[in-house]
Amino acid sequence: MLKKRLLTPGPTEVPPDTLAEMAKPVFHHRTKEYQDLFRQVTEGLQYVFQTKNDCLTLCASGTGAMEAAVVNALGPGDKAVAVIGGKFGERWGEICKTNGNEVIALDIEWGHAPTPAQIEALLRKDPKIAAVFITLCETSTGAATDVQAIGNVVKNYDALLVVDGISGVGALPMKTDEWHVDLLVVGSQKALMMPPGLAFITVSPKAWAKISRTPSRSYYFNLPKAKKSLEDFDTPYTPAVTLVRGLKNSLDMIRAEGIENVWRRHAVMAQAARAAVKAMGLEGFAAAPSDAVTTVKLPAGIDGNAVPKKLASEHGVTLMGGQEKLKGKIVRIAHMGYMDKFDIITAIAALELVLKKLGANITLGSGVAAAEEVFYKNNM
Ligand SMILES: *Cc1c(COP(=O)(O)O)cnc(C)c1O
Repeated sequence: MLKKRLLTPGPTEVPPDTLAEMAKPVFHHRTKEYQDLFRQVTEGLQYVFQTKNDCLTLCASGTGAMEAAVVNALGPGDKAVAVIGGKFGERWGEICKTNGNEVIALDIEWGHAPTPAQIEALLRKDPKIAAVFITLCETSTGAATDVQAIGNVVKNYDALLVVDGISGVGALPMKTDEWHVDLLVVGSQKALMMPPGLAFITVSPKAWAKISRTPSRSYYFNLPKAKKSLEDFDTPYTPAVTLVRGLKNSLDMIRAEGIENVWRRHAVMAQAARAAVKAMGLEGFAAAPSDAVTTVKLPAGIDGNAVPKKLASEHGVTLMGGQEKLKGKIVRIAHMGYMDKFDIITAIAALELVLKKLGANITLGSGVAAAEEVFYKNNM
């Protein structure tokens, strides 16, 4: 028997009670029952995102909300800065270009994070920049961006601060209002303990002002229309009733744990993963490591592409390798969402077994012991 364990940075495992909730019969959405549910879900999202801004729920994967941010906020002729330090930063640039906008790329070394000074230099040089696109957790490299520091810069300019928090929010601290984030984009299948299919976007008053001056270029992803419907806790088109119902349960779990405790759990899991990697004699890839995913450089001399394959085929553990130029070079240990200490210990144990089998110089148990030590010290 091979018991399957999903330990990837999206999709992530879904709590049994959330799955059970989604097995219930579908009901109609133009009802008071749905409005009550959607009101509670919207309030729950605002709590997790730490915002009083409007929070719109879209029926799409995370990229749909990224596109919604771009097509609603950037009009013809608008220029934008996109921080490109991995695959998801690249995506911001590609969406802006698809929308016909000029992109000023801030290219940073993969695994590193942009500094507020780099952003400020670009905004000073060109005060016409309409938006700055950044990524809270660049899932492809495991790097985290200091959104708070960048927010303190962008708030002084006309530009909007747009954050891809798809994999980071719910794992890393995110204080949308306090950090002056104008548009925050989140997906359901990462740290929010849900299957794929829903995406969220919060919109600040500064962003609404820009959106109202921008001709809408999307029929479906029309944020002013979604805002109007939200006044009655409704949506312009048929919502994913089943997913919204599951989301209520997962958000209730986050609320019951308390968002600060959720952030702390992720920080300790990340600390344990990093300690394990070091104890195994390996190195992390990210210079600015995120508490949502740990990227591990694979030892030289082994077939890197075989690592995720063997983890899945021999141990039932799905971990992701690297993407694009990191393919075969890294493995990514996710610690986001419905995960606890034993998920980390499992991932490390499986990695030890596979790396040793592939010929790497690994002492079995070295990583696991280091991880346990961190959990023990943190009383977890
Ligand atoms: C997963 C992810 C996305 C893409 O989301 P989809 O749901 O696949 O569209 C975008 N950005 C980041 C940082 C992600 O981790």
